[in-house]
Amino acid sequence: MFEMIIFQNVSKYYGGTPALKNISLRIEPGKVNILLGPNGSGKTTLMKLILGIIKPDAGKISVYGYDPVQDPIPIRRITGYVPEDDTLYHSLRVKEYLEFVARTYGLKPGVAERNIERVIDAFMLRDKIHEFTGSLSHGYRRRVLLAAAFIHDPQIYLLDEPFIGVDPRIARALKTVLKNKAKNGYLVLLSTHVLEIAEALADNIILLYKGRIISTGSLREVLEKARTEGLEEAFLSLTMSRLQVEEIVKALMG
Ligand code: ADP
Repeated sequence: MFEMIIFQNVSKYYGGTPALKNISLRIEPGKVNILLGPNGSGKTTLMKLILGIIKPDAGKISVYGYDPVQDPIPIRRITGYVPEDDTLYHSLRVKEYLEFVARTYGLKPGVAERNIERVIDAFMLRDKIHEFTGSLSHGYRRRVLLAAAFIHDPQIYLLDEPFIGVDPRIARALKTVLKNKAKNGYLVLLSTHVLEIAEALADNIILLYKGRIISTGSLREVLEKARTEGLEEAFLSLTMSRLQVEEIVKALMG
């Protein structure tokens, strides 16, 4: 019962504008959960609420029994979070940054060293460990953020648009890892606006649009619901990329 994320009638406003409106939701471990929605639909806001980075204006959130407003620290300890924005300290070198992250999670030195080595190899960062994170390319900075989320073997993986700008080899490996983590009972929640990613990975899709949950379930179910509710704009912005690709292929093939 405790080992899940529960939203009860949660709303969040920026100024007078709602970013999330009356969200009620259960997110369970054991499956790959995907927050799918066009840009601006509230995905990042929802993730930040889970970690207590921002506070709801109404409603209650429980994360494995903890309230992120009162008790964000234990939640952050059990969570690996990959933010969408670059939150690195640019004046730290890659290895220093990972050591800093390991320390904040309270890992013992031996364990920290071992885990840091593991993520450096996994995310192919070996030849960058002495470089300042601020001097890295966008793709490498994403790798460092991903590596940081895997250092402490968290129970919850919160990944905000994790595949953007990531090397295809790493993207592929990450998909396999996330599926396996879910199978092994971890909670995986990732956000995307890319239909193909949801299609390839999701056991459960949460379709967000303009701060509301349109529906949850399989890809087919959530898209059908969007269409039957007349949310043509949401439907099109999610499906357009695929249709366009098909059009381009057709045009090129003659
Ligand atoms: P998504 O992650 O789906 O792209 P966001 O959660 O980032 O969506 O944003 C949801 C809405 O809230 C958008 O309309 C966005 O402009 C607004 N918003 C997000 N963060 C802020 C902020 N710090 N100040 C004002 N408006 C914000």
